[in-house]
Amino acid sequence: MRGEHALVFALVAFAFAGLEAWWRRRTGRSYDIAALKGTLAVAAGQIVVNGIAGIGITAIYMAAWSMTPLRMPLDTVWSWGLLFLVSEFLYYWQHRMSHEVRWLWATHNVHHSAEELTLPAAFRLGWTGWLSGLWLFFLPLPLLGWHPAAVATVIALNLRFQYYLHSELPPWLGPLEWVFNTPSAHRVHHASNAAYIDKNFGGVLIVFDRVFGTYARETSLDPCRYGLVEPVPSNNPFVIAFHEWSRMLADMRRSRSLRGALRVAAGYPGQRPDRRE
Ligand SMILES: [Zn+2]
Ligand SMILES: [Zn+2]
Repeated sequence: MRGEHALVFALVAFAFAGLEAWWRRRTGRSYDIAALKGTLAVAAGQIVVNGIAGIGITAIYMAAWSMTPLRMPLDTVWSWGLLFLVSEFLYYWQHRMSHEVRWLWATHNVHHSAEELTLPAAFRLGWTGWLSGLWLFFLPLPLLGWHPAAVATVIALNLRFQYYLHSELPPWLGPLEWVFNTPSAHRVHHASNAAYIDKNFGGVLIVFDRVFGTYARETSLDPCRYGLVEPVPSNNPFVIAFHEWSRMLADMRRSRSLRGALRVAAGYPGQRPDRRE
């Protein structure tokens, strides 16, 4: 059943990507085929690596769930609703920390390396989440008693929802923008404009950005420029997946003390936007 859902998602996603490519061509927007090939190679690598790492992470989640005395029912709406809300809260912090801590950014910057915001760019995902420890953020869910299969379902729905946010096509969606992460909000997230850096970290919901003060609204006065502040000049999937790790390790080596190296890894990835000249 799960395989069928994944197949339907893939077919619908493919159809929408085709429609978007047609729309971009028709409206005179660029469509970088070399970058698309890079994205697809990164996505293929990510599926292989996460397929292997997922075995270990699932075992850890299962061990956590078997050890905790707590049990959350899976046949009630409130339990699923609460699971959704808590997972959105944890996702917000996982994503925010992925931008604010270099060890995590080394994985997450891959997602921000595309310089055109198109639907397939959603699949530019890092290969090293297992090493950065991104899975630790969701460990509270099995510890609170939700079965790992339920946790995986909610996270998968979050990521599938987010696929449709990676596009320049959909307009501002009015009142929905108050509650949900939308294409407009996520365009801001992918922009490297000074006013848009480190904004809109939400997954399905945008409410935690509003609560914690990281929400920014897209404005036509400041059109989004997509990609990294310092772009990766390559479509080679290995360069895209590892360039920030090699830059970070070089900076750690340069610091010449363990404490200095740890400070690099735990520190902000670049110059903080509020402290930029
Ligand atoms: Zn991000
Ligand atoms: Zn994104």
